Amino acid sequence: MGKAYNLVAVKFFKNSFGKKSEKKIKEFRFWEGKAQQMDIIESLHDISVQNPSVEDFSAADLKWVKFGTSERHDDVALIPYARVDDFIFGESSNVESPTRFHIERGRKRDIGSLRDIKSDTFLRYWLYWCSFGPEDYGDGGTILQSRRYRLNTRNRAARPQSMRGCTCHFVVKRLYARPALALIIYNDRRHVNKSGFICHGPLDRDAIGPRAKQVPYVGHEMQQQTMSMIYLGIPEENVLEKHIEGIQRYYGSDVKVNSLASQYVHKLGMVVKRSTHELDLDDQASIRLWAERNKKSTFYYQDTSETEPFILGIQTEWQLQQMIRFGHRSLIAVDSTFGIKRLKYPVCTLLVFDSRQHALPVTWVVTRSVAKSDISKWMKALLDRVRAVDPTWKVNGFLIDDAAAETDPIRETFSCPVLLSVWRIRRSWLRHIVKKCRNIEVQREIFRRLGEIVYSIWGGVDPSVVLEKFTQDFVDQTEFMQYFKDAWLPKFEMWLTTMKTIPLASQEASGAIEAYHVKLKMKLFDDSHLGALQRVDWLVHKLTTELHSSYWLDRYADESNSFQTVKDDYINSTSWHRALQIPDTDVTLDNNNNLFAKIVSQNDRQRVHLVWNPGSEFSFCDCEWSLRGNLCKHVVKVNMICENRKGYESSVSFQSYQEILMSMFKKPLDDSLELDMSVGWLNQIHDQIQKLVELNRSNDIGTFVSSLPLKWCEKRNRTSIGRPATVKPSSSSKNNNARKKSRKRKRLSRLN
Ligand SMILES: [Zn+2]
Ligand SMILES: [Zn+2]
Repeated sequence: MGKAYNLVAVKFFKNSFGKKSEKKIKEFRFWEGKAQQMDIIESLHDISVQNPSVEDFSAADLKWVKFGTSERHDDVALIPYARVDDFIFGESSNVESPTRFHIERGRKRDIGSLRDIKSDTFLRYWLYWCSFGPEDYGDGGTILQSRRYRLNTRNRAARPQSMRGCTCHFVVKRLYARPALALIIYNDRRHVNKSGFICHGPLDRDAIGPRAKQVPYVGHEMQQQTMSMIYLGIPEENVLEKHIEGIQRYYGSDVKVNSLASQYVHKLGMVVKRSTHELDLDDQASIRLWAERNKKSTFYYQDTSETEPFILGIQTEWQLQQMIRFGHRSLIAVDSTFGIKRLKYPVCTLLVFDSRQHALPVTWVVTRSVAKSDISKWMKALLDRVRAVDPTWKVNGFLIDDAAAETDPIRETFSCPVLLSVWRIRRSWLRHIVKKCRNIEVQREIFRRLGEIVYSIWGGVDPSVVLEKFTQDFVDQTEFMQYFKDAWLPKFEMWLTTMKTIPLASQEASGAIEAYHVKLKMKLFDDSHLGALQRVDWLVHKLTTELHSSYWLDRYADESNSFQTVKDDYINSTSWHRALQIPDTDVTLDNNNNLFAKIVSQNDRQRVHLVWNPGSEFSFCDCEWSLRGNLCKHVVKVNMICENRKGYESSVSFQSYQEILMSMFKKPLDDSLELDMSVGWLNQIHDQIQKLVELNRSNDIGTFVSSLPLKWCEKRNRTSIGRPATVKPSSSSKNNNARKKSRKRKRLSRLN
């Protein structure tokens, strides 16, 4: 009866008001439907299926009923599954709010996977969101003014600048028990933002008229700062305070602006709170969605297939900038096997050394594959990306941390020498010694003797003899020796050979890489989501939100000289920097047999730490940080002092440096052109090393680097500032070098 009545009413309206009033008719139907259905229906079997006769139909064409319980119920309608697209199209063509809907989240179940089902249990689930939401921020970096018209794209990633925080969304469920039907759940029908204002379409007053001008412009940097602070869990009022401080630099103080800013910060907070790693129940589908939505931060993506392994290469726009800025003519280091035991896929991080020589992550690669061909693929993609911005970009050395790593792809792609850092081997040994041997004297001695084996590479002794003696002497340390035999003996020779054949990285580099490693570990493993370790989407979310934000803020604090505590913590985040603050007078060396050094604790001056085996990478300190396997500031400090003393061995990196120099010193075969070339090369290298050493002697690297002429600035402006685009690369780099050199000299003469 209701239907017949409706038809009469529709005809009546059509006849009296003509086509224009179709909307009115729909509205009438909608409210009429609402009024009729005050009762709450508890089973879907009591709801009739609607199949409107028009081609495309919208919410106004359907009769909505309340489904659920008296406490919790939704407005729903049941339609044939085959008509879902017609509904979405019709709903998008709303005259007042033309838009598109994108799938914000999707889930699926397999048929037969459930035993107990309810009438509304889904087989497939999609959350459709108005494409002017849900976020309210964009790439253009403004608090967005509204748009009058929808953009012609369904892909969220492609239209972030159009997002206005629209809350309009609905859910479509394909029913598990009746797959031919779809249930639509529609609670937020209005195209408004969180504050309840219409946020797009012709009715939005901000889209036109004077108010649009009052919305403060928020630069990209400000936006990133605010996001970073929220991600790091800084309380909203502090975030807001900083945000308003930033805005006032452009606008002065204004009540209106402040209240808009407060809304903005609050909204961002909501966005962050609501943002989830789980875009789909299925991890692989979820990560596919992530890659799809974050094309700008994905430089390589290869889905798992029968023939290909999963590879995801992540690099944000900011990381790309840092890689170009700090990696050019400098070093890249790699933390290669993080999470190999606990994560579903381990993470490989590429690091650059920033203006304070701290390790800064500029690329994350998530994959289990260490095959040459796979490494080559992502490395090439990465280099292409960097070269697309700066074709002259070049790296001077690549630090690896695993002797088993494939070095061919590095040499082929980056055409640079490979160096090995011993931080990982040192760390594993130390951690296991502390864990597996009870007596501290035994711990010290084992660590010292392991170091002896490594040093024997340059000592003219056969390392296998030293190793043999070591295993005999500690045969009673069964637990540790078992570990050593299982984990290290099979690959020991390979490690020693690699250490002998490729140059070794310094203690400072080791400390910096280790500091990154420790931070990553803290962020990932100290999480309440421990069950999530097996999900890649969670890992990616953690890396790109929290970890990325924390590094961004560190750098920002340092360069803008704001956030003093963040800045201080950041500067002191490596053992090297912490060691620099210890006065020489706090260190006492044992002058009899150089077995140990004493160093006054900086926090508790009554305490003294004992550093065993000073002057070596294999020094053992009794402080807490060291006993956790880390390279502590005491070891670094003691080694800095021993470096210039007689009777102490030089560091492994210096030993390997010396070895290279000695081999260069060998006389060419005859007095030929080869000799001239060698002289040329050596002169060049000598000159460069000299400059490097001068650089290292200057007290504040940060000030020094920022005084260099070539500064990173925005991509599109860069050619006009650092490198004239019209000048050939060769001559431009010569100009730059000349300029750099004269600045450097000036700086150095000021220091002397
Ligand atoms: Zn909307
Ligand atoms: Zn220590």
